[in-house]
Amino acid sequence: SEKINGNGSARPLDVAVVGGGIIGVMTAIGLRRRGINAIIYERAQTWHEVSAGFAFTGAARVWMQSIDPALVELLANISQKTDASSSNAYWNGYHPRTVEDALDESKSLLFRTPTNNLSFWGCVRSQFLKGMADMLPEGATVFGKQLLNYVDDEQSGKVVLHFKDGTTAETDVLLGCDGIHSVTRKVLLGADHPASRAGFSHTVTYRTMVPIDVGIKALGEKVATCACNHLGPNADLLVYPVMSGTLLNIAVFAYEEPDFPDPDRMTVQIDRTDIKKLFDGWSPQLADIWKLYPEKVVKWGIYDLEANPPPTYAEGRACLVGDAAHASTPYLGVGACTGVEDALVICTLLESVQQKALSGEALKEGLQDALQTYNAARLDRGRWIHHHSRQMGQMYHWRYGPTGRDPERMKKKLEENWSAVVNYDIFAELSPEVRELAMGGQVAPVGA
Ligand code: FAD
Repeated sequence: SEKINGNGSARPLDVAVVGGGIIGVMTAIGLRRRGINAIIYERAQTWHEVSAGFAFTGAARVWMQSIDPALVELLANISQKTDASSSNAYWNGYHPRTVEDALDESKSLLFRTPTNNLSFWGCVRSQFLKGMADMLPEGATVFGKQLLNYVDDEQSGKVVLHFKDGTTAETDVLLGCDGIHSVTRKVLLGADHPASRAGFSHTVTYRTMVPIDVGIKALGEKVATCACNHLGPNADLLVYPVMSGTLLNIAVFAYEEPDFPDPDRMTVQIDRTDIKKLFDGWSPQLADIWKLYPEKVVKWGIYDLEANPPPTYAEGRACLVGDAAHASTPYLGVGACTGVEDALVICTLLESVQQKALSGEALKEGLQDALQTYNAARLDRGRWIHHHSRQMGQMYHWRYGPTGRDPERMKKKLEENWSAVVNYDIFAELSPEVRELAMGGQVAPVGA
């Protein structure tokens, strides 16, 4: 899948990718395929991702194909694919008074939404990251490099990265793929800028997994063998089977008025009776859900950039990609898919700079222009994602005025949002040449 350098005589661009998460690694793969010398600087000592599941939409896979077709091949080999008939069920978790009523579709099913237009492929995060890492050549990743600061140096014409271990590195461009607590964002905007810190979304989550038979006993076969969300005032309960249907993944999400106790840690250990209190007076199955959790439970604070979105994703020769730019709550479930869009746009724009074979001041200006073009193409999309993801959370918790508790309106809103997620043309704001360079004759997933 090698692409030819636009100009054989130019030296390859050097790009520092700060952060070896899903989006940093994918971006580096795309850059290298375009003949650009991308080096990942990762603070951890080795690859690290959790073995939780996550999914990519069909639209994201089309963009991924253009980043590097090998990415889609990898995903195809390790993922579970939703079929044409798959749907998510949304139940009323609050009103039913008996177990029978709670499981009676005619009384308690709020609505179903088909997931086939999203055409999700779900995989285990750590497996996908490891598979991508294997696609990188030796030396493309340097571990144990925690970025503390960088200087966009006019004199040397380079961006100089400063790491915690006292070492430095020089590069033509810096891409901050360093996630929700991005140091790149802090340096780019200034440590005092409100967007340099992610904000508490005033929602939290409690997660666990149980053997599928335990899940079926607690929630019934109909619920425990497919993707179901139970909605109600100030909380929702999401369940879906994982590990080839042997385990039930359980996630409670809840509104939380007070500020989070420790914003720097994002987690706090609590007693499971806190979950019991959340579902007091709900349907019998939900009122008992706390019993499926261990005595001591981790409560995760959910943070995003909605309250203080970055005013820009680019400054000079540094820019923000993935969660560093637009960290979102998980209610829309497409944070990484949005990072895939960023990755293709930045890879293509940098490829077009490299093709011009610039040097000195012209190279610097070419890079700055490319990053400003990236910013113009991505800023509104990033903001749309975290804004609408928050709305989805409010809707699930019956706190969103325009939908209230009305299942018809909720369904409509959800389908509108999903449609906006997948029917989005990432090249709409860019010149036709950029689209041509990225996609060749391939058709974009718009209208899919
Ligand atoms: P990260 O994954 O956060 O990676 C950042 C990397 O940078 C890490 O490796 C970190 O160690 C490194 N780093 C940080 N600081 C520094 C530093 N100073 N110097 C060097 N390295 C540094 N999205 C979907 O599309 N589909 C889903 O189904 C989905 N499900 C989700 C479920 C949950 C519960 C959550 C919380 C999120 C979900 N998301 C999903 C969102 C998705 O997980 C994120 O959008 C995605 O992981 C972001 O990837 P990233 O590479 O930008 O950042």
